[in-house]
Amino acid sequence: MKEKEIVVRIAELSYDELSDRQRKLVDLARKATERSYAPYSNFHVGAAIELDNGEIVTGANQENAAFPSGTCAERTAAFYAHATYPDARFKAIAIAAVGTDGKEIAEPVAPCGACRQSLLEFETLAKDNVEVILVGANAIYVLPSVRSTLPLAFSEF
Ligand SMILES: [Zn+2]
Repeated sequence: MKEKEIVVRIAELSYDELSDRQRKLVDLARKATERSYAPYSNFHVGAAIELDNGEIVTGANQENAAFPSGTCAERTAAFYAHATYPDARFKAIAIAAVGTDGKEIAEPVAPCGACRQSLLEFETLAKDNVEVILVGANAIYVLPSVRSTLPLAFSEF
C-alpha cells in the first residue's frame, strides 16, 4: 500500500499584517456582508474578487424561500465578475461573514464545496493561482490558491 499526504499551507495573519491590496479586499468583503439577503439563515457572507484588469467585484449571499435557489456570496461575486468582465482573470478573493448574533464570526469563514469547485474553474481559466483570503474576527487565513482549498479536485482541464 502506498500512502500520500496532502499538505495545505495556510498563513495566519492579523489585519495589520496584510498588504494594502489584501486589506482593501478584506474591507470590501466585510462591506459586502451588508448587502447579503439572508432572512432564513441570518448568516451574512460577503466576497470580494480582484481581477487582473484592476476591477474588484463584490457579492453577497442571496437566499430564497426555495432554499436551493439561493446562491452563496462567492458564486454571486464570481459569476457576476465573469459575466461582466469575461476576459479578465481572477487574482484573489476575500470572504467575510457576520453570524446570527450580528457580529463578524470569530474564526475565518471558508467557502462551501460548491463554491470551491466553481472558483477552481476560474483559477484554471486564469492559468495562475488565485489567492484565497478567509476572514474572521480573531484571525485571517491566506491560502495560495483555490486548488489548495479543494484537494483532489475534479477538473476538466
Ligand atoms: Zn458556497
